Amino acid sequence: KNVQRRQAVTVLGATGSIGTSTLDVIARHPERYRIHALTAHRSREPLLALCLTHRPALAVLGDERDATWLRAHLAEAGVATEVESGPAALVAAAEASDVDVVMSAIVGAAGLLPTLAAVHAGKRVLLANKEALVMSGSLFMEAVAKSGAILLPIDSEHNAIYQCLPTEHRGGLARHGVTQLLLTASGGPFRGWSAEALEQVTPDQACAHPNWSMGRKISVDSATLMNKGLELIEACWLFDARPEQVQVVVHPQSVIHSMAAFSDGSVIAQLGNPDMRTPIAYGLGWPDRIDAGVAALDLFQVARLDFEIPDEVAFPCLRLAREAMAAGGTSPAVLNAANEVAVEAFLDGRLSFTGIADLVARVQDAEPFESVCDLEAVLEADARARRAATALLAGH
Ligand code: NAD
Ligand code: MG
Repeated sequence: KNVQRRQAVTVLGATGSIGTSTLDVIARHPERYRIHALTAHRSREPLLALCLTHRPALAVLGDERDATWLRAHLAEAGVATEVESGPAALVAAAEASDVDVVMSAIVGAAGLLPTLAAVHAGKRVLLANKEALVMSGSLFMEAVAKSGAILLPIDSEHNAIYQCLPTEHRGGLARHGVTQLLLTASGGPFRGWSAEALEQVTPDQACAHPNWSMGRKISVDSATLMNKGLELIEACWLFDARPEQVQVVVHPQSVIHSMAAFSDGSVIAQLGNPDMRTPIAYGLGWPDRIDAGVAALDLFQVARLDFEIPDEVAFPCLRLAREAMAAGGTSPAVLNAANEVAVEAFLDGRLSFTGIADLVARVQDAEPFESVCDLEAVLEADARARRAATALLAGH
């Protein structure tokens, strides 16, 4: 019998695609985990349902009106969950002293401060919120090193690479005989389309991903290949790689989740069905392996694996991201902020699909470059890039 203390988990972004998959895995292991806090932005009804099932000590919503509503409904149901609201409450949920594990699954820059709080508090941080790392790269990784936080990548590609690398892989890829990281990409719903054909695509077409079911923002990013660009930056920070050491490989079946190439000619890959519960269970269980509820990969059904070079003419976001990483400083934060504004405008019908890359490029060109990268500079670059993108949109 397992007499270990149960680990207390905070799920930031609990109502989202990653959040609900995380709770699905946790529910399979009641002897290992309990929920400390669940958070959501505006989804008060889904958060109520999750609170009734998982009975967290704390629930956090974006604004106080929704929190009042949730408090009343929980009281009515006789559930003793405390309810708070706002950004400071998110930080508190992440850094609370009785929390062991924080799942960072808020979408976008809103996840930065609570994720950094979890890092500073030395938690086991399961990182799905790639935007936080893209924005703050060096200071994020320095904080991890300083606090002793255990950072486990949940993005399927980075989780795959993490599994392929030696256990102790810090200090540069070359030291461990790694020559290249091979970041696989499904190519998204518009793989093979020309730049002209892409001009007319709608938000619903962009969100219909062939292999993965995800939130709308990352679905659009997958369609523009900005997701792969953000992941390239994410890989550089997580694995201490230079942009030219990361090769994007279009692999439409999404069965190889990524690979590492070594100096002796070996290429190590991690394979599995495209289901985020696998990397989530890896992060939760590490260094143990635990049941994720995911069926074993049936290679006879997969039958074949294809590989293609990404089309950076039709999908310029990948190049924009690589350039931002090479430029360094606040460039990735500017790229990310401009992209968030552009994707929101596209989803609202205010910007065309191809307008996303155009807007990001124009903001990148217009924004002054900052080489310092402390938190203040990052937040300032983020805010300025959002203002610049919004102004360019209004001028259209
Ligand atoms: P989602 O849109 O389904 O869920 C987002 C969650 O964040 C929700 O709980 C929402 O309430 C919360 N949220 C949104 N805005 C917020 C704000 N301003 N303040 C606080 N909370 C806020 O998104 P998702 O698909 O689950 O993705 C979450 C993160 O994980 C993203 O960074 C994404 O890039 C990353 N990721 C997702 C997948 C996937 O398969 N969905 C895979 C890899 C990485
Ligand atoms: Mg990914």
